[in-house]
Amino acid sequence: MEIKKLTNRIFYIPHHPETDRPLLAYIKGDKIALAIDAGNSAAHVDEFYQALEVEGLKKPDVTIITHWHWDHTFGMHHINGISIAHHKTNEFLEKEKNKLSDNSYIKSMKKNNKYLNREYVNDRKIVITQSDVQFEKKITLNLGGTTAQIFHAEAPHSEDTVLIYIPEEKVLFLGDSTSEDFFNDGYMDMDKLRKLINLIESIDCQYCILGHTEPLSKCDLLVYLKSISN
Ligand SMILES: [Zn+2]
Repeated sequence: MEIKKLTNRIFYIPHHPETDRPLLAYIKGDKIALAIDAGNSAAHVDEFYQALEVEGLKKPDVTIITHWHWDHTFGMHHINGISIAHHKTNEFLEKEKNKLSDNSYIKSMKKNNKYLNREYVNDRKIVITQSDVQFEKKITLNLGGTTAQIFHAEAPHSEDTVLIYIPEEKVLFLGDSTSEDFFNDGYMDMDKLRKLINLIESIDCQYCILGHTEPLSKCDLLVYLKSISN
């Protein structure tokens, strides 16, 4: 998989529908390299880092997690540097980690999730870990020449939703936040969706980056979200 360049400082490898691997992004600061999401396995992390190397980019110093779902977090144990997550993300991850000690839970995960089953072929082991740093409301990183504003937001997809805004590049990372809640029978909370739409509207960005699609313009995303929220 090749690295794609979105702006001067922002790169990404696209999502991978076969195994539900989400898009992984990279922000190149003069001092700190920031990755967004850890991917769904150690193999996914390796693929990302190899693509970075080909492009002459160093491994991330910090990885920020958008939410706890397996496809965004099961690579966390394998990252370079440190990870940052919302405190609720860590709570969810701890629960999942405890369930892993039961072998039948792993079996049922594989049975019920064809993507996970495809990713964890042969003897690949599922490893869940919590982040090195956690926060409650927001945390701002000065990456050198550019900043990352990381904050918790209310969203229909998960309780622990974290958004990342890079003002200098006018890019907003949204993870899967605009989607329904798969862990609540695919329920779409319209109230939360409308709040999220208002929030996106208020942010001065050109691109909106979601986990499982190509980068969108802010305008295209808002047109789509408004069409489903009416
Ligand atoms: Zn998700």
